[in-house]
Amino acid sequence: MDLNSSPIEIFFFPYVGGGHQIPMIDMARVFASHGAKSTIISTPKQALSFQKTIHRNQQLGLSISIHTLKLPENDEISDTDMSATPFTDTSILQEPLKDLLIQRKPNCIVHDMFHRWAPDAIDGLEIDIARILFTGSCCYARCVRASLAKYKPYEKVGSDYEPFVVPGLPDRIELTRSKLPPGTRQPEQHQDHKKMHKVDENISGVLVNSFYDLEPAYVEYFKNELGYKSWLVGPVSLCNRDVEDKTERGKLATIDDQSITTWLDSKKPNSVLYISFGSLARLAPAQLIEIANGLEASNYPFIWVVGKISKSADQGPESEPETYLPSGFEEKIRKSNIGLIIRGWSPQLLILEHAAVGGFMTHCGWNSTLEGLSAGVPMITWPIAAEQFENEKLITEVLKIGVNVGSIEWASWNTQPSAVVGKEKVEAAVRRLMGGGDEVAEMRRRVRELGEKAKRAIEEGGSSYRDVDSLMEELKRRCKGGA
Ligand code: UDP
Repeated sequence: MDLNSSPIEIFFFPYVGGGHQIPMIDMARVFASHGAKSTIISTPKQALSFQKTIHRNQQLGLSISIHTLKLPENDEISDTDMSATPFTDTSILQEPLKDLLIQRKPNCIVHDMFHRWAPDAIDGLEIDIARILFTGSCCYARCVRASLAKYKPYEKVGSDYEPFVVPGLPDRIELTRSKLPPGTRQPEQHQDHKKMHKVDENISGVLVNSFYDLEPAYVEYFKNELGYKSWLVGPVSLCNRDVEDKTERGKLATIDDQSITTWLDSKKPNSVLYISFGSLARLAPAQLIEIANGLEASNYPFIWVVGKISKSADQGPESEPETYLPSGFEEKIRKSNIGLIIRGWSPQLLILEHAAVGGFMTHCGWNSTLEGLSAGVPMITWPIAAEQFENEKLITEVLKIGVNVGSIEWASWNTQPSAVVGKEKVEAAVRRLMGGGDEVAEMRRRVRELGEKAKRAIEEGGSSYRDVDSLMEELKRRCKGGA
């Protein structure tokens, strides 16, 4: 990148919290490390969760900063501790963002798709700003959703549990209606779904947290069949190299790195199962009990990030998870030292990258999927919401780096899954993945290879490294009024 002239200025405008905010912060840092002037647009409260990391980057000389939008007094987007939900209305940020864009005139703004109002606000300004979309998912998941929208294969089956094939894709992907969100099953009844399509209009392209070798056929499909220009710049989580970056990512971990490392150091390589359901997932109390009993029966070492309890209308306020674990469970695992329970926030990257971790029970959120495979860890898939059921198919059938636990029912973030996965299924999946054998040895080989490819992609000369530079070159040409 020629940095003699003034640097390209890119605004990164993440969604508030969790699985969408975390990778965009990393993305801003990646672009800054390539010479861009990165500015993260946030709210005062949200900025608290990543300002230390950005400060460290500034001390290293990177051109990166945070701009917090002024909100009406006492207002915040989300009063939850970490995340807004995909339906949270962020339009209160519209006017302050417009003012900022008029004042600063960046070359480009990368915004999250959940800021549904962003196209009107940004495209309506008479300033030439490239608008780039970030969806939080990979090309594969976008291709599956596009095929579902076009061919509606779910209309041709007799029940919610009868499988159908998603047409026209490079691989045979089988789903059921029960694994799809209501907005995909009945798009006409969901206004948000229509607005979602609008965010795609007039964009300069899509920034994707993925890498070419992971999903080459879908990168091509995304471009050639769906007509999207895209830059694959991930896995962006790999820019977190220091322990501090890993333990303060998204939120400050509720366990210190020394305790985790000491505990993991005492275990054999590939012997520990790490269990986490992401930043939003809330499981039903009955489900936590089945997991605890399944883990106990399988008898493999584990680290379990116990999430929140589902909040449903009839349940009252959110409850503390400990009351729902089987009585005596925690004491037993503490005494035997077979498991570690983390309440709150885990340093996920630090854990996944430790040699003792040999399996990841995941809800298949895209970040977790990518972080697991980048660390070379095979998975037990337990999708719950969003595009996680599609990701499960990528993990278990396309990449063949995981086994499924048997989750069949899509459930929104604020409802309890109606189907509980029983302890027998939990135990069977844990034994299958952690027990070894030829099938798992092959999975380990494949996922390790993918992990190596992921690391090569972000190094100088790698595909993701080149895509970052290529977007910056393009913005530079655009700003000079060239092609
Ligand atoms: N995460 C973490 N500690 C936790 C829970 C989550 O560091 O205790 C991070 C995880 O590493 C990932 C993100 O939060 O980067 C979750 O994103 P994902 O797409 O997997 O799931 P979502 O939260 O969006 O459902």
